Amino acid sequence: SSFGFRDVDAREKVKMVRGVFDSVASNYDLMNDLMSAGVHRLWKDAAAAKLNPRPGETILDVAGGTGDMARRYSKMARAAQARRGGADASVIVMDYNAEMILAGVHKGGEPEMSWSVGDAMALPLPDASVDAYSISFGIRNVAHIDKALAEARRVLKPGGRFLCLEFSRPTTGPIRRAYDAWSFHAIPRIGQWVAKDRDSYQYLVESIRRFPDQAAFKALVEDAGFSRVSVTNLSGGVAAIHHGWAI
Ligand code: SAM
Repeated sequence: SSFGFRDVDAREKVKMVRGVFDSVASNYDLMNDLMSAGVHRLWKDAAAAKLNPRPGETILDVAGGTGDMARRYSKMARAAQARRGGADASVIVMDYNAEMILAGVHKGGEPEMSWSVGDAMALPLPDASVDAYSISFGIRNVAHIDKALAEARRVLKPGGRFLCLEFSRPTTGPIRRAYDAWSFHAIPRIGQWVAKDRDSYQYLVESIRRFPDQAAFKALVEDAGFSRVSVTNLSGGVAAIHHGWAI
């Protein structure tokens, strides 16, 4: 019957859509690994440790992509909960690209995680509603950094923590030279081979160059109203963590 065919059709479509999100997520992960030589995993571990997720907290991960940071936060909050009790944490992954969110859902979550679509420059959350805000390799892509920082400040409760993990400036000559060779020559080629998309990866390298260095970004975070802002360089400043407090 035609009903039967339509039924099969729908199931085929679901399979196809899953396949697309599967490849979005796995391509994305593969590119991250290739471009950072696997080191982005260690940077993310360091950033999650710095954020120090605790039981009962509401943690917002903006530009959360497929949920790499949120998975870490969930596991860490749960481990702390197993040691000393407390309520379940709530970890919100927010990204303005619904495809990334769907790819993340498909990749799988933790019980503490929830997913939602939203823009860093206009967060769909009330004032003073989260204990910690994080943005990992996301703020560089936001059109108005000051707006995103103001939104972070707005949604954080008094005493809340802000954390940003982003590419930054290598601090010594030799690291800078190695990094320049890697980013100008290797990354666009890897982008061409793996993603068949040299231009996007060329753009990526340029966006890293244009992004403010450690001191300039620290000043922006302070201008947004954060206190005791600290900078932690990773891999000699190839990436950096900026951490601050909403007082
Ligand atoms: N945080 C993830 C990680 O560290 O693996 C993903 C980083 S990915 C390089 C950048 C993400 O930022 C993308 O998923 C993109 O959709 C998201 N993004 C860019 N601009 C955004 C904005 N204005 N609001 C929310 N998400 C944004």
